[in-house]
Amino acid sequence: MIKIQNFIGGVLAAPLSGEYIDNYDPSTGSVYSLIPDSDERDVELAVSAAKEAFKTWSVTPVAHRSKILLKIASLIEKNLEALALAESVDNGKPLWLAKSIDIPRAAENFHFYGTGILHFASEAHPMEDSALNYTLRTPIGVAGCISPWNLPLYLFTWKVVPAIAVGNTVVAKPSEITPMTAYLLSEICMEAGLPPGVLNIVHGYGHKVGAAMTVHPDIPIISFTGGTKTGETIARTAAPMFKKISLELGGKNANIVFADCDLEKAVRTSVRASFTNQGEICLCGSRIFIEQSIYELFKEKFIKETERMIVGDPLIDTNKLGAIVSKQHYDKILHYIHLSKEEGGVIVRGGKAFHPDGRCADGWFIEPTIIENLPFDCRTNQEEIFGPVVTLTPFESEDEVLQYANSTKYGLAALLFTENLNKAHRVAAKLHSGIVWVNCWLLRDLRTPFGGVKQSGIGREGGFEAFKFFTEEKNICIKF
Ligand code: NAD
Repeated sequence: MIKIQNFIGGVLAAPLSGEYIDNYDPSTGSVYSLIPDSDERDVELAVSAAKEAFKTWSVTPVAHRSKILLKIASLIEKNLEALALAESVDNGKPLWLAKSIDIPRAAENFHFYGTGILHFASEAHPMEDSALNYTLRTPIGVAGCISPWNLPLYLFTWKVVPAIAVGNTVVAKPSEITPMTAYLLSEICMEAGLPPGVLNIVHGYGHKVGAAMTVHPDIPIISFTGGTKTGETIARTAAPMFKKISLELGGKNANIVFADCDLEKAVRTSVRASFTNQGEICLCGSRIFIEQSIYELFKEKFIKETERMIVGDPLIDTNKLGAIVSKQHYDKILHYIHLSKEEGGVIVRGGKAFHPDGRCADGWFIEPTIIENLPFDCRTNQEEIFGPVVTLTPFESEDEVLQYANSTKYGLAALLFTENLNKAHRVAAKLHSGIVWVNCWLLRDLRTPFGGVKQSGIGREGGFEAFKFFTEEKNICIKF
């Protein structure tokens, strides 16, 4: 059985506890590898290695840092097949999805920030003929990066790469539920010649490793992606220590379909936005609001299109949905489906677990589920389910749908479908959401600011926003 190792000071290392956690293949429900059960002692070693490496990495010429990051990007591309298979087995997502989205995007993160850093500059503010202000941006030190299980390597690299690109060193913790590709990345970093200690990866539980990172006095900056509750715990520890934090948290995204939309496009895109990656993407549109006059027509077409979302063995390319990431999360989703019925919901498709024949018979699969007849403010429509479950709700007017859409404590992303340009601008501006997609979904330009409002998070990632977050600014004023 594969034993995953920590990556500290440029070498692979067993956890000091000598203990390991079982790692499951969600498609079979069986243990297939072991994860280090690290604790604060491993974090301490990682912080020491990162502090030592910071002395040289922070003054390493940008061009050299860029070269190493681009080398890692090309090694990820070279190992695409193996990494995609590892991601699929670890997470339960379809192999074709890992091959076409997760791993290419991880390589792209290295490429994007590895080239972006060559173009990053700071501002100058001349005061006519009396003085010149200029802004110095310097790396901060050891950055803590904590990531979730839904897009494991994709989101891990999304925060680690800008942190090291600007000259910080990093202690990173991938999710204990999907640690495999971060482990494989350690080997790639060694091959690419990333100096020891620049990236340190400590595996293990959030309440041990994540908590030890959050409270560590020598980690002054933390970038976290995960659940809102965990974000709150991190903020509670980090705030009185005056740490810089970026929190990318949960969502309960609205998808608004106006009667004047291109219906075929709205249906196709909505199905994708509902069920891609088993609905385990923070950006999925799980509350679909449909203008009353097209409600029945949209519903009929949406159900029909959902029939094409075949669930089953993630390694078979014709299956569109794979397994739910863990038994605990599978139980949570089924619990919410049950709750929706108690709240008066009517299941118009799916609504239960699915048991494939063959090797995946004991895996954790759930049918794409469509529910209607629920009020906008019930728990099913307010709480994040994070699975292949969507609700359909009719609306009569713009004001009404804006009230529904903005009613949750979250504000990460929203979708809207209309062919009326004025309406698109008007509604997009009024949505309480960090991201609005009009007539599309998950169309990502990595230069744009990414993040949420309300309890979906604090701060923005992406483009130069990430470089700004991972640097300290200093204004220097020179009087002539
Ligand atoms: P989670 O909060 O349970 O875990 C995320 C990470 O935090 C894991 O590495 C975990 O080990 C660690 N952690 C747990 N407890 C900790 C603690 N006390 N201190 C420090 N670290 C701790 O989230 P998850 O279940 O892995 O991921 C799903 C959630 O992530 C969903 O809510 C989803 O919406 C959200 N998410 C948000 C975005 C975004 O960009 N906003 C992207 C993906 C996922």
